[in-house]
Amino acid sequence: MKKSFRAFAFLVAFLTAIAWLLPANPADATGNGPNYNGNETVRNERLHNYEEMVDFLKKEDRKSDALSLEIYGQSVKGRDLYLANFGVKEGNPTILFLTQQHGNETLTTEGALKFIQYLTSNSREVKNLLDRVNVLVVPRLNVDGAEGDVNFSMDDYVAGTHTRYNANGVDLNRDHQDLNEPETRALHNLLKKYRPDYLIDFHHQGTRERYGDTDELVSGSILHPTHENVDPDVLQRSKQLGSVVYHALEQKGYAKISKYPGSDNPAIARNNFALDYGSATLLMEMRGMADHYYEPYILGQKSNGYLIRQAFTAMLATTQSLADGSIQQADTSFWDTLPESNYDDYEGE
Ligand SMILES: [Zn+2]
Repeated sequence: MKKSFRAFAFLVAFLTAIAWLLPANPADATGNGPNYNGNETVRNERLHNYEEMVDFLKKEDRKSDALSLEIYGQSVKGRDLYLANFGVKEGNPTILFLTQQHGNETLTTEGALKFIQYLTSNSREVKNLLDRVNVLVVPRLNVDGAEGDVNFSMDDYVAGTHTRYNANGVDLNRDHQDLNEPETRALHNLLKKYRPDYLIDFHHQGTRERYGDTDELVSGSILHPTHENVDPDVLQRSKQLGSVVYHALEQKGYAKISKYPGSDNPAIARNNFALDYGSATLLMEMRGMADHYYEPYILGQKSNGYLIRQAFTAMLATTQSLADGSIQQADTSFWDTLPESNYDDYEGE
């Protein structure tokens, strides 16, 4: 179900006009890539729906011996939850990439599928990586919300296709202490089983987050755990994980990364996994959402390409840095000066 929205066209046209005053060359546009213009059709059918995602994962699994596909649980609506497991060699560091705890934050999963495709390529480069790092990819935790298959009305959503919440209307990224929901319980069983040393939790934020006090829109934001009881060594390794992501993306013309203004809530993945499992964690927020009842959060499809590349680059760079050990020398001093985002609207990671 799609709806065309014209009601906010004037406001969005005004904001678009401001965006045009910023760097004119799209290659230099960083966070200011094309936006949903309020009067366009949102084409979320271009994204992998659940069935297409599962077909893709099974196809990749058949293609490569490096990948074993595991079902680690079921959603409220009974959909299987998939882990793409690229090895558990003893002595290797383990990194886990988690996407789409929020069902409307879709390009994170699209990036993860690209990364899975890369890791099944059987190239020498990939073999060298997988000899040295255990990679676990958990694409789309909130499979029901991503299908819009939920026990509440989505009549006020712009596209009517994707929601943040799971089928019970619960925000899964606030359920990591209570574990009331089958998706979070399944994920925590996975974490207990594999104990990842490093973990990146991928999300999307609004479309208008700005870099510090400037007018420049960001393409993404990052944050390490901030709860006061996180072990100092875990915090330091988390900052190094962020350093690798930041410095890899800084070289890309499309990327502009700010510090995410996140909370100390221990029920959020970024804090919880560091506290409970000693995992070094990083929150990575991408620009814009696939669907929402609040129109300014919606990005539309025209920026999909660079945001999918941004997620892919974060996954590849961190995997490479674990393979060659360079993560242990990663300079964390940039965190002290990295500007926090400024924003007009804020939903929380
Ligand atoms: Zn999110």
